[in-house]
Amino acid sequence: MAKKQTAGRDNLGRLAPKFAQLNDDVLFGEVWSREEELSLRDRSLATIAALFSAGLYPQLKSHLVLGKEHGVTRQEAVELVTQLAFYCGWPKAWSTFPLIQEVYGEDSGETNRPTGLSAFPVGEKNDSFAQYFIGQSYLAPLSTQQVPVFNVTFEPGCRNNWHIHHASSGGGQMLICVSGRGWYQEWGQEARQLHPGDVVNIPAGVKHWHGAAQDSWFQHLAIEVPGTEARTEWCEPVDEEQYSSLCSRLL
Ligand code: MN
Repeated sequence: MAKKQTAGRDNLGRLAPKFAQLNDDVLFGEVWSREEELSLRDRSLATIAALFSAGLYPQLKSHLVLGKEHGVTRQEAVELVTQLAFYCGWPKAWSTFPLIQEVYGEDSGETNRPTGLSAFPVGEKNDSFAQYFIGQSYLAPLSTQQVPVFNVTFEPGCRNNWHIHHASSGGGQMLICVSGRGWYQEWGQEARQLHPGDVVNIPAGVKHWHGAAQDSWFQHLAIEVPGTEARTEWCEPVDEEQYSSLCSRLL
């Protein structure tokens, strides 16, 4: 879901309060938010194309940032600009690639990642949740409508902290393992080893963690089960010694 837009009020609230209100509440609040009609990712691609065509680079950069949040990968942004260059002008592509470089950074980590982990996209580094993970993970939104589905990729040794998916009714999470080897553990229970094809049903309110084996990449789809007042509570990291002993038992 689109996060609440405040860029208008943040930047123009004093100079142009009406414009700021229209920007935040109407353009983003009422038009961009119609995800059933057109996804955020598609809206981003269309907006990036429009701004590219007009050569509005500061706005274009802001929308490359937003597009990244909406699941547009670096590779897709590069591909889009390559095609648009033929329709809108070669020099515009020259001006836009450095913006993509700035937005996505020098190193996407793709170089040391095995190819063909699964048919699903790996996405970008999972920076927004990095504080709740040990090691590097990647996040690709597969569906942002109806039931939200994300592909989560863990590098070897990467796992998330203990956490709880809370909800007053419904809620919880499902994991569908698609690649590599990993672990799932509920508080007070033995860890369960995970392989492609395994499905994990995590009820709301159960403290747990999931992640890769120490010597293997791991990839699961995370399905956020709809619930009322759903939120995730992040707790302590998995004990290092306990995690290492899991992995030695595996070998
Ligand atoms: Mn979870």
